[in-house]
Amino acid sequence: MNEEKKFWNEEMETLDPEGFRRVQEASLMKELDHVWENSLFYQEKFGGAGIKREDIKTLEDLAKLPFTEKHEIRESLSALPPIGKHSAVEMGRVIRIYSTSGTSGNPTYIGLTFHDRDVWAETAMRAMWTCGMRPNNIVPLPIGTFFIAASYGEAIELLGSTLVPVGVGATDRFLGAVKNLGADFVLSTASFPLYMTTYCEKNKLDAKALGIRGFMVGGEPGGGIPHVRQKIEEAFGANVQECMGNGDMLGLMWAECEHKKGMHFIGQGACHPEIIDPETGVVLDIKEGLTGELVYTAIDRECQPLFRFRTRDHVLVTQTSCECGRTGYCVKCIGRTDDMLIISGVNVYPSAIRDVVGTLLPRVTGEILVQLREPPPSVTPPLRIKVEHGEEPGDLAVLKKDIQNILREKLIFSSDVELVPPGTLPKFEYKAKLVEKIYEE
Ligand SMILES: [Zn+2]
Repeated sequence: MNEEKKFWNEEMETLDPEGFRRVQEASLMKELDHVWENSLFYQEKFGGAGIKREDIKTLEDLAKLPFTEKHEIRESLSALPPIGKHSAVEMGRVIRIYSTSGTSGNPTYIGLTFHDRDVWAETAMRAMWTCGMRPNNIVPLPIGTFFIAASYGEAIELLGSTLVPVGVGATDRFLGAVKNLGADFVLSTASFPLYMTTYCEKNKLDAKALGIRGFMVGGEPGGGIPHVRQKIEEAFGANVQECMGNGDMLGLMWAECEHKKGMHFIGQGACHPEIIDPETGVVLDIKEGLTGELVYTAIDRECQPLFRFRTRDHVLVTQTSCECGRTGYCVKCIGRTDDMLIISGVNVYPSAIRDVVGTLLPRVTGEILVQLREPPPSVTPPLRIKVEHGEEPGDLAVLKKDIQNILREKLIFSSDVELVPPGTLPKFEYKAKLVEKIYEE
């Protein structure tokens, strides 16, 4: 079934520019009505900015609305738990709550209604089909159930493929799925197949003989880095295609087709992307070679719709037309504004490290300095961190161990902590510099 079709949703994925505009605008108008009526957060935000519903009549008018920042979502969540002032439905209609990984500070919670769940599954299936997943594939999912990526499991089933929920940190289960069940297509972070490559080398396993023929990778820029992709493809004799979503917005909305020239936008009717100049906030015209920050607006979301949400994801537009026939323009993620690090496949932000270490006050001062021995974002563990101890730290050996343990527990990475006396780390007035490069550039 469906084996012969080229697109999951041909109508949406091949819209001409006028059709795209029509679909996005109609969805936006409906969403605005919903939000103006039901979202306390946007009633206050738009009201405070003096914007009325009737000011927004076209897709272009979207630029009149202020951006929504991540910290506003956090504030909204703590002001009105559990799903925030930006929720636009009663809690009784929420059927599922996911968490973002919380590596950039506290996690944010994502509520979905039945309808939201269906929308997420629809765009995820478009992405999966684009990346080459087919109903005859057996797909192990090495992803924890707490996070939005768990929603992909449902889409794998709805697409007709066979899901094998493996979970994180379960190499044996993963290999079991591959060897015993014949799993042949993997949806994961880019770090996962890299990790498996090393694992196979160490354990004298022939990765090629495992029979995995496709990887669909996302969650970090790795899959778009040519030498990373090449390494995975060669080690497994498999094809690698990339995908991207956003935890606060939509599970998946970008996916690379077989031509591998960047990820197509495939979230038509569910989300509206803009690319802005991160310094000025000005919306940029989409053309090949453009770089800027992605900004998303939910246009088919019941719970927690966000308008002009700043992602801090920086992208490059790689092409605006493609041989495959999909009309969504293509991007490649080139990094994040924040200094994200990737340690054994886990995204770690220096600000989150500072946050976690700070919970041990007053035994520490709260000042940290991450020392990188190699160019970021990938870090070979343990991560080296200088931490200022407090005036009365107690036993230093115990403190060092406590810090390393709490980092492992909260942020899931291993560290090598060097304690230094209070006041010895550099201070910055404007913005803290949490990372020091100790390699030669
Ligand atoms: Zn294409």
